[in-house]
Amino acid sequence: SNIFFRPIEKINAVIESYPKGIAGFKRYIEIIDTEPDIADSPDAIRMNAVKGDIQFEGVTFGYEPNRKILQDIDLTIHAGETIAFVGPSGAGKTTICSLLPRFYDVDTGRITVDGVDIRKIELESLRKHIGIVQQDVFLFSGTIRENIAYGDLKATEEEIWEAARRASLEELIHKLPEGIDTIIGERGVKLSGGQKQRLSIARMFLKNPPILILDEATSALDTETEAAIQQSLSDLSVGRTTLVIAHRLTTIKNADRIIVVNEDGIAEQGKHQELVVSGGIYSRLHHAQYNR
Ligand code: ATP
Repeated sequence: SNIFFRPIEKINAVIESYPKGIAGFKRYIEIIDTEPDIADSPDAIRMNAVKGDIQFEGVTFGYEPNRKILQDIDLTIHAGETIAFVGPSGAGKTTICSLLPRFYDVDTGRITVDGVDIRKIELESLRKHIGIVQQDVFLFSGTIRENIAYGDLKATEEEIWEAARRASLEELIHKLPEGIDTIIGERGVKLSGGQKQRLSIARMFLKNPPILILDEATSALDTETEAAIQQSLSDLSVGRTTLVIAHRLTTIKNADRIIVVNEDGIAEQGKHQELVVSGGIYSRLHHAQYNR
């Protein structure tokens, strides 16, 4: 399921009324940012630099009071590590990841970033350090430049181009009639799925968060585009703590650690080879899926 289902709904609600120009753009960002579902605690702290160590300690969570989705989850993720969450649909991979930016708060237990309980961090400051790339990329009707700059409203021209370059967007930009000032979306040029993903990757290079959540696409792109995007995503994850809700075998194989989630919680963890050899759930999943 979509990781940011609710926030996206909220964005869509204000997008219609989004006026043109950067002033309107800023106002519109503020509308989103000042409507958190979750309030800061009075003693909440601002975190300026984040290393990216993450810890789930006895985390229990359910969307409804009588139906727990996560039960007593313990998980330690080291700064810079790339973690691939795998497991059957509905097991709770997306839910685990959506607790980190506090789209929901845990029922019991706690989640820490660099040892600090995330409920004690100002929401804005927490989310500033977490980047999200998902298949339904949120783009608004505006120029390519504005859509990239959404990653960091204070970015300079040079930084925007650098982000575009690192996300392999330059070629596309140069082909478009107005270049980086070409309007995309409803009233402009329609981008392909792969181009949209590149744009969201550029945005993340600009935002430069120490923690990254990648909700990997299940819908297929053509093989060539797919490989190029995989490469950009793997470049993006360098030096960041990366949590991937993984569907692609290459992602899973290259992860520092695979976390197998099923109805009972975290069932197994380890590297691809280790898990294949151990003959557990992952090994069976893997064989069923790829060795037919
Ligand atoms: P998939 O691979 O299909 O994305 P997943 O492992 O990511 O699955 P989740 O999306 O975390 O699983 O869902 C875990 C459970 O929580 C499912 O039973 C799902 O129906 C339920 N669920 C997810 N989001 C909500 C929500 N907003 N409200 C109520 N229940 C939800």
